[in-house]
Amino acid sequence: MELSLSGQKVLVFGLAKSGVAAIRLLCAHGAQVTALDERDAAALGAVAGELQALGVTLVHGPVPPGLLESQRLIVVSPGVPLARPELRAAREAGVPIWGEIELAWRFLAKVPLFGITGTNGKSTTTALTGELFARGGGRTFVGGNLGRPFSEAALTPDGWDALVVELSSFQLEGIQGMRARGAALLNLTPDHIDRYESHAAYGQAKTRIFLNQAAGDFAVVNVDDPDVVALARQAKAPVYGFSVTGKPVGALALAGLAVAQQGGFRLDFLGEAYTLTNRALRGAHNAQNAMAATLLARLGGVPREAVQAGLEGYPGLPHRLESVRVLDGVEWVNDSKATNVDSVLVALRAFPGNLLLIAGGKGKGAPYQPMVDEGRGKVTAVLTIGQDAELLAAAYQGVAPVHACGTLDVAVRRARELARQGDTVLLSPACASYDQFKNFEDRGETFKRLVKAL
Ligand code: ADP
Repeated sequence: MELSLSGQKVLVFGLAKSGVAAIRLLCAHGAQVTALDERDAAALGAVAGELQALGVTLVHGPVPPGLLESQRLIVVSPGVPLARPELRAAREAGVPIWGEIELAWRFLAKVPLFGITGTNGKSTTTALTGELFARGGGRTFVGGNLGRPFSEAALTPDGWDALVVELSSFQLEGIQGMRARGAALLNLTPDHIDRYESHAAYGQAKTRIFLNQAAGDFAVVNVDDPDVVALARQAKAPVYGFSVTGKPVGALALAGLAVAQQGGFRLDFLGEAYTLTNRALRGAHNAQNAMAATLLARLGGVPREAVQAGLEGYPGLPHRLESVRVLDGVEWVNDSKATNVDSVLVALRAFPGNLLLIAGGKGKGAPYQPMVDEGRGKVTAVLTIGQDAELLAAAYQGVAPVHACGTLDVAVRRARELARQGDTVLLSPACASYDQFKNFEDRGETFKRLVKAL
């Protein structure tokens, strides 16, 4: 649908990063924009000034009666549930309600879109897929839920050969026409139970990534994950699987399979083998991410050599098994993004052993026993920090020596004393950081600074 917004009334609900990006796009097209947020101009800070300069009407607090119903279009930020009662009257009045992704896509429908969703690994797979497409020489937009909002791509719709977009379940709820040439579903574990009434409802939101696929499109799915396999039966386009075991769980007709093998993986339907030795992609979970990215890129037309070069050159995202430095034969790894026990499990599986684990912070109430079991024989010392230190110490009692360090700087110094050549010091906290840091990025940056100063 050709979208003509000039002079039209459009309301944007929610002024986080993507809401503001949507407003810039709408204003560039001459729309008459009203922005709605719980925060007032003072709380919005610099954004309020920019919106004012753009001629946007800012509304905060209770929604004035009739405001939403009188719009030509409402664009909802991913942080705002579509079930919000304020939206009901507008919906009944027939006002289209789109997510920011849908709005941007309406300007980008001619460019092939490669979408990535799942509970874990979205950002890694998106960044890697972007790297592979860029190596192939195409002008590649990388963003969405990660990094740049999708609306930024729509400001220069003729500037792209490929769109590589991370899509959260919230973003997928707000699409209607968005069509993915390639759609990847990585995995599905319980998450966002605060916003979804059930695991099934969460899964259904994720499968919207397949919604408008047609002939010529394709789906990429994790066939080691039974929930993903069940949902992938809804895909209308040919389905390509990836697996670390080579044995898909459940029945699903596959057009092709990527399978992990020693030191890399192969694509059976093309008879191609790839090596995967990049440190930024170690661990079985990253093999899955790499296979998903490779399928998207190869099926999206990126040459094989470019894919292999991209797998080798991918620099990794910060705070996800990020290798900080090797000092006197000891590797220091920043996995500050691991804010829950599940993430620590995939980190522990990525190393053969000789691990000094720095963990702790603001715990989420989940039991620590699974990480104790996973690390048995591999974790030779635990250095605790933050609020949950005692709970961690109790869990590791009799399994590995625990050093109560309190703060990260003490833990780094103690690890330096304890570590021997061939060891790895891994910051993988299993906890949120808010008791001692601004966020996980702040915690990871602090760790890197401390380690680089050793
Ligand atoms: P997301 O954007 O979905 O949060 P990231 O790529 O940022 O994903 O990874 C977040 C964390 O999830 C990582 O630190 C790692 O612990 C875990 N993870 C990454 N990829 C996978 C995967 N394929 N399967 C399971 N867990 C993963």
